[in-house]
Amino acid sequence: MKHLISTAVLILLISAFGCSDQKDYGNFVEGLSYLDKRPVRIEIEDGKIKSVVSIKRLSDPGSNIYISPGLIDNQVNGFMGVSFVDTRDELTHEGISLITTSLWEKGVTSYFPTLTTNDHQIYLKNLALLAAAKEDPVLLGSIPGFHLEGPYISPVDGFRGAHPLIHVRKPDWEEFMELYEASKENILQISLAPEVEGAMDFIRKCSDIKSVVGLAHHNGTTEEITGAIDLGARLAIHLGNGLANTINRHRNPLWAQLADDRMSIGMICDGIHLLPEQIRVFYRAKGPERIIMTSDVSALGGMPVGKYLNDIGDTLEITPEGAIIYPAQQVLAGSAQDLSTGVGHVMEVTGCSLAEAIRMASTNAARLYGLDDRGELKPGMRADIILFTMEDFNMDIKKTIVAGETVYSTLD
Ligand SMILES: [Zn+2]
Repeated sequence: MKHLISTAVLILLISAFGCSDQKDYGNFVEGLSYLDKRPVRIEIEDGKIKSVVSIKRLSDPGSNIYISPGLIDNQVNGFMGVSFVDTRDELTHEGISLITTSLWEKGVTSYFPTLTTNDHQIYLKNLALLAAAKEDPVLLGSIPGFHLEGPYISPVDGFRGAHPLIHVRKPDWEEFMELYEASKENILQISLAPEVEGAMDFIRKCSDIKSVVGLAHHNGTTEEITGAIDLGARLAIHLGNGLANTINRHRNPLWAQLADDRMSIGMICDGIHLLPEQIRVFYRAKGPERIIMTSDVSALGGMPVGKYLNDIGDTLEITPEGAIIYPAQQVLAGSAQDLSTGVGHVMEVTGCSLAEAIRMASTNAARLYGLDDRGELKPGMRADIILFTMEDFNMDIKKTIVAGETVYSTLD
């Protein structure tokens, strides 16, 4: 851990000093557009996109490098050994920086630190830390806000997932307002179960603030789900996960959330959390306009294969296949893959285009959360741009530009 954090500091120093000559004033970047695979040149000025122009051919005509907006991940629980809800109380600014700079290397230019069900005091401390990190100029605005997943979820085994029962509670607006204040009003999403006592009142109140309501870890009836959507709930969190293994074939939360066009769905496309046929069916039901791909990546994301002790002393294992399992119960314990894995996987199993995959991994999230300055390559938007190859459905990030600054590059 100590070693990781010193690495983070080093990365920060490199990005702070190494990029000082790359303000990208009047800079250009080229690639094959993710929309139609035609060559484009983008001019960057003062951290924003100044122009996007079609060109006859790239400067290197043999290049197979695509260009697209940076990925936006609304659900990052941690990465590189750092957790946003470490019960040992060890989250630090350096840890947040390490996650941010490591995600840049994966093409993720914006992400929502996600705090799962936990103790009130840890929430307060970590939200305050995150609110400070959000304003850190070195992190270039890559954290637009935070996602609170829980603690107002189902206490029932299976639906609760890996959220600790001891911290699950009923919706409490006063408590939430304390957390919202600690976050400096930056909780952009609150995800809860619609069937728990007080949930409907809570959702109604959320319409007064800028938080999007997601439904997560629940066993809501069709009436409860529809009622929540009527009151403004807009996203089914990681559909198909956070659900008990044994459910009623008719009366379960999947159908109502899939059937209602007002609701978008979050989908974990790491190749492990959902079967290919599930992804195909979800994609057909919702279409690329109502899917937000999410990594749900855990603190063990980005770490090598092996066994690790988590913060409460349980042994977790990253398998060679890339799954994180809790061997004692043989269940999944979060995802090990960042969002770039999902882009290739969703294309492979649904046959969707690169344009649709990027829409699901960037544009849709920006629109849902009102982040009007990102998620597309258009003049006036933040210059959050990635260059990458796509071979055998493997997205390989070559260069990442955040707010006009090159923060990662394997190119000359
Ligand atoms: Zn979850």
